[in-house]
Amino acid sequence: NLKMGIVGLPNAGKSTFFNILTKSSVPAENFPFCTINPNESRVPVPDSRFDFLCKHYEPLSKQPAYLNVVDIAGLVKGASEGQGLGNAFLSHIKACDGIFHMVRIFDEPDIAHVEGNVDPIRDIEIIHDELRLKDVEIVKKVHEDLEKKVVRGNDKTLKVDYETISKVMNMIKEEKGSVRFNDWNEKEIEVLNKHLLNTSKPMVYLLNMSEEDYIKKKNKWLGKVKQWIDEHDPGATVIPFSANYEYRLVDLTDDEREKTVKESGAPSALEKIILAGYRALQLCYFFTCGKDEVKAWTIQVGTKAPQAAGRIHTDFEKGFVMAEVMKFDDFKEHGNENAVKAEGKYRQQGKNYTVEDGDIIYFKTNT
Ligand code: GDP
Repeated sequence: NLKMGIVGLPNAGKSTFFNILTKSSVPAENFPFCTINPNESRVPVPDSRFDFLCKHYEPLSKQPAYLNVVDIAGLVKGASEGQGLGNAFLSHIKACDGIFHMVRIFDEPDIAHVEGNVDPIRDIEIIHDELRLKDVEIVKKVHEDLEKKVVRGNDKTLKVDYETISKVMNMIKEEKGSVRFNDWNEKEIEVLNKHLLNTSKPMVYLLNMSEEDYIKKKNKWLGKVKQWIDEHDPGATVIPFSANYEYRLVDLTDDEREKTVKESGAPSALEKIILAGYRALQLCYFFTCGKDEVKAWTIQVGTKAPQAAGRIHTDFEKGFVMAEVMKFDDFKEHGNENAVKAEGKYRQQGKNYTVEDGDIIYFKTNT
């Protein structure tokens, strides 16, 4: 189960945001076979295709895709050296696969700032630095160990590991260095995957502004922060929002929410945020549909048909015969399975087929 972790300095709005997610998530007791920590939330991924399929099939059970989000409190300047919750905190980040970086861009004199004043660029740099310094600590140990084995012990099997880790070390020693900014080849990526470094994780920046600013679409920091991210973390997703506003919206009924949004002219950013998290983790899903159940099955982008079948049941991967695939758009256009078949758009795919997001699949297996 891949997860996004929420990080940011104290009073940036992390708990507020986490509470919003929890309110829109599925209660833990609905997942009797999974352990979910109190600081973890499972939020349904909004998808109009899923809604359409549920309406069409009227199934007994509906299972959308979920995004797992963990609230990670306690990062302050010096955490990598044991300040605040220090290392405990940083080991929680290790268990996450991507990061929601909460940045405070709201000025609110009554709400204290650990660093004394609101300065989002300084704050972003503090977080990046702490994440990077923790990586340096981890990589240093790994590097020393490999050096013993490869240089002094002459172990040739670990040569690629040693070279890759040396490269990582040189990179992250530098201020603002990050594993994520380099193009790595496949062998290097295999090495990197063994160590789960903080600076290799994709980041989605959540710029938390006051409700008033969000509604007016105006904030004095917004331009500067976006520019910083463009320069230092190119390609990262940046989403301005207001935690307070979302918090107000999430408690309303659908009708009330619609009315509030119409009056303010500012739509909720929540769906966008959940989708951005899901995409950052390189996840997508296919559907299985029937009268019993409509379900979205989460897979990594690029998963082949037999492995996708294995998500449903481990035996399905071994016993895979073929995947019968309809594209959602074809289904929507023609209205039902038979019409899609009549159009010749119901395709049989073999074991080399790469499953695409939104495929509607029926697996044939010999189990
Ligand atoms: P955390 O320490 O990062 O978990 O931050 P919290 O979510 O506990 O928020 C700290 C304080 O900032 C709380 O009093 C929130 O109500 C307030 N806060 C959070 N988001 C906003 C916002 O968008 N605008 C304003 N004005 N206050 C906010």
